Order: sequence, then structure tokens, then C-alpha cells
Amino acid sequence: MTKNEIDILLEKQRKFFNTNKTKDVSFRLETLNKLYQIILNNEDSIIKALYDDLHKGDTEAYSSEILFSINDLKYIFKNLKKWSKKQKIFTHLINQPGTSYYQNEPFGISLIIGPWNYPFGLIMSPLFGAISAGNCAILKPSEITENTSKLIAELINSNFPEEYIRVVEGGAEVTQLLINEKIDYVFFTGSTQVGKIIMKSAAEHLLPVTLELGGKNPCIIDKEIDLDVTVNRILWGKFFNAGQTCIAPDYLIVHSEIKDKFIEKLKQNLDKFYPNITHENKDFTHIVNTRNFERLEKILSQGEIIFGGEKDKEHLFISPTLIVNPDMNSEIMTDEIFGPILPITFYDDLNKVITDLKNKPKPLTLYFFSNDKRNQDKIANETSSGSVCINGTIHVIFDNKLPFGGVGMSGLGNYHGKWSFETFSHKKAIVKKSFSFDMKQMYPPYKVNLAMLKKIIKWFY
Ligand code: NAD
Repeated sequence: MTKNEIDILLEKQRKFFNTNKTKDVSFRLETLNKLYQIILNNEDSIIKALYDDLHKGDTEAYSSEILFSINDLKYIFKNLKKWSKKQKIFTHLINQPGTSYYQNEPFGISLIIGPWNYPFGLIMSPLFGAISAGNCAILKPSEITENTSKLIAELINSNFPEEYIRVVEGGAEVTQLLINEKIDYVFFTGSTQVGKIIMKSAAEHLLPVTLELGGKNPCIIDKEIDLDVTVNRILWGKFFNAGQTCIAPDYLIVHSEIKDKFIEKLKQNLDKFYPNITHENKDFTHIVNTRNFERLEKILSQGEIIFGGEKDKEHLFISPTLIVNPDMNSEIMTDEIFGPILPITFYDDLNKVITDLKNKPKPLTLYFFSNDKRNQDKIANETSSGSVCINGTIHVIFDNKLPFGGVGMSGLGNYHGKWSFETFSHKKAIVKKSFSFDMKQMYPPYKVNLAMLKKIIKWFY
């Protein structure tokens, strides 16, 4: 898309937004319902595109990209009328007689930029937020998962007028063009590195942004645990989508008292999850492209492999891999892994682990496995991260009544459920005063001296 085409698109969306049609809650509900039907009617094509792009199996594709999205949509749909109501507050005495309230109003044109790891769901979920709040939307899916990008473009562009919702395909150059235009809100999901570029460009126009970013999510395992449950939850959270999940546990920090039995159990259960795994395993996603395969290939050599480590470049397949003694100064421990490689480290003193974490960038999620309530609270209260999950991993994302988002280097802002509606809404304060009473004492020349004013003000505040 050229700059000129983008300018024309933006003009059309601006004009449509200014008709106020999107502010009508019934219109928004109608759109959400239409999106719901489109997704339901195209489940098979969505699953196929995800398989073609990532070799994503149907169970993981359906549960994470379709079911998750439509559950969020249904929840928003059910509550939208309630959320959209004006929120009255008690009018301040100075403004009496009168009424005061605030209302959620759409920003205008929202730009939603998506990543490749959940290329369908992570465009759709923010779109539900943008639409529920009454915005127009431009969607820019990841060019890396090209089949899904093409499908999203077909489904949206053939079902909605471009002045309302439009998918624009392309790479970084298209995103650059879009974020340098006069839009009203940017919702970005992707890497911390590109997030910085987006924020810099947005700052030029003072555009509000949500940044859903990545980073390393530590997973700490105390000695008081249910070993089998802990291991299963970790392995599932890590190897779902072949570790290409922003909230996947990135590395383990295991209490050294349970070191041997923990590692043994990891190996045993991993074998049960993926017996004799090859690239043909239908439950296991592949690496998205050669660039990421080569990046992960390098990481495989940055520690001692104790399980897995098989790779097949032709099929972009890397088997689930466990690594001990990772090189603390290499990418395996300094960068987000974002692949099926799980380094394991050990600790003796939880306080030291917490201190170390405080010196690192704040993670998107922090995982802690323990039966010890005091330690659970210690982790929740003394560390900082987008979210914390105790005795679970990617389970943290299931409850859409909770906000989802990072903090510091892992992101800015949040969404899901009501939080999506809030994110895409500006809260506008409205005060309606009556003409019937006017406090003349407020006007110059002021007849009250400062001492009197302070006395009167006490009455009002
Ligand atoms: P990415 O940052 O490379 O790309 C994301 C989007 O930005 C794509 O649409 C891409 O076209 C665009 N882009 C890339 N370079 C750009 C540039 N220079 N200027 C403007 N736009 C540019 O991210 P990715 O590789 O697609 O996704 C992986 C990352 O996303 C991981 O770090 C992961 O943790 C993170 N992620 C975060 C969440 C979350 O919800 N917090 C979810 C999924 C993925």
C-alpha cells in the first residue's frame, strides 16, 4: 500500500467516524455479532492457514486462536450495554445545581498491529476491544504468517466497508507509513525492540499506545510442590505452540533440594507428551521461519542438552529440549527464547532469586510453584511483572476478567474483556450546570480576602 492509498483510506475512515454511526451501541453489537459469525463460519480455513504458516495442530490452533477469541467476544457482547452507560457521580457543591458524569468515548481510528505467533487471535482480540468502544479500525497482521494474513484480509475486507474496518497487509514499511499518519490509537503486539520504534513514532503525533511486548518469563519451583502436576503444567505451558508464546515460561529456577527428581520427572513426562517425536507429530508446532530456526539453533549450543535437541531445518522443526548449565552471558539467558528450548537453573535462597529478578527487566509473567503460602505471597508482593501465576503457567490468560499486559520492558497498558473496552475508550468528563444559580463571589474584583477564602473553601472541600 502506498502513502497515497493510506491517506485516502484514513480520510474515508475519518469521514465515517464523524458520522457518529460507530457511537451507536446497537451498531457495535451488530458488528461484534457479525465478526462472531464470520469466525464460526470459517473455522476450518483459519485452522488450515495456521497449519500452513506454523504447522500448528488443530487442537492448539482451535483452543488458542479461535475459542479464546470468541469467548472474549461473547463476554464483551454480553456486557457492552452496561459498560457503555454514562457513569454518574455526585456533583460538586460548586457545580450545583447540575449533573456530572463521565462517559466512554471512542478515540477514532485505531491501528492494530499483530505478531506472527498467534497471528489470528492477536489481531482479533484487540479488534473486539476497538469495535466495542466504537472505533474504526485498521488491522496490520504479521507478514511472516502470510496465509493467515491473507485470510484475515479476505474475511474482513469482503465483509466490512473499508471506511469502518480495513486490513492492510505488508511488512515493517507499511507499519511505518501507518504510524506516521494521523490516527488516534495504536495497539501493538510484538517484540520489545519494535515496540520502542512504534512508541517513538507515536510520540511524534502524541498518539496513545498500548504495547503488548515480550521478554523472559522466569518460572521458579519451590521444594514444596506436587511434582507431577507442576511438571505437566510447566511442560504444557512451555511447549504449547513450540514455545512461541509471549507468556511461555522462558527458563526454570528450581530449588536445588529437588534437583534430581525434578529433572527426572521433566524427562519422563516430556516423553509421555511427545513420544518419539519427529517433524510429523501433529500436536507440535514448527518454527515460523529459517531466521528464527537459525537463531534457536545457536541457542541450542549455549548449554548442556539433557533431553531433545533434535533439529530438522527442512521442516523447521526443533524437538522439545531441556538444557542445564546454560551460559548466563549468552542469548539463552539474556534474550527471550521464543522456541522449544527450556534452560534449567537452580537456587537455594528465594530472597536471592527475588533480588536477582529485581535487577532484570520486568517480565510479562512470573511463575511460581509452591504449596507454601508465605512464599506465594512473597513472590506476588515483592516482585514486579505484568502478571503472576502461582502453580500454573499460561493458565494466567484464561480469566478474561483479569487485565492482561506487561510492565516496563514487557509492555504498556492492558486488554481482554472489559479491559479491552476500557483501553480503546477515552473517559470524557461532562459537567452540566444550570443557569439558575450563579455564584457572583467567584468573579473579580474579588471581595473576599485570602483568610476568608480559606474558611469558605473548607466548607466546599
Ligand atoms: P515483531 O516486533 O517483529 O513484529 C510485530 C509487528 O511489527 C509485525 O506486524 C511487523 O510487521 C511489525 N514490524 C516489524 N518490524 C517493524 C519496524 N521496524 N517498524 C514497524 N513495524 C515493524 O514481533 P514478532 O516477531 O511478530 O512477534 C514476536 C514477539 O512478540 C515476541 O517478543 C513476543 O513475546 C511478542 N508477543 C507479545 C505478546 C503479548 O501479548 N504481550 C503476544 C504475542 C507476541
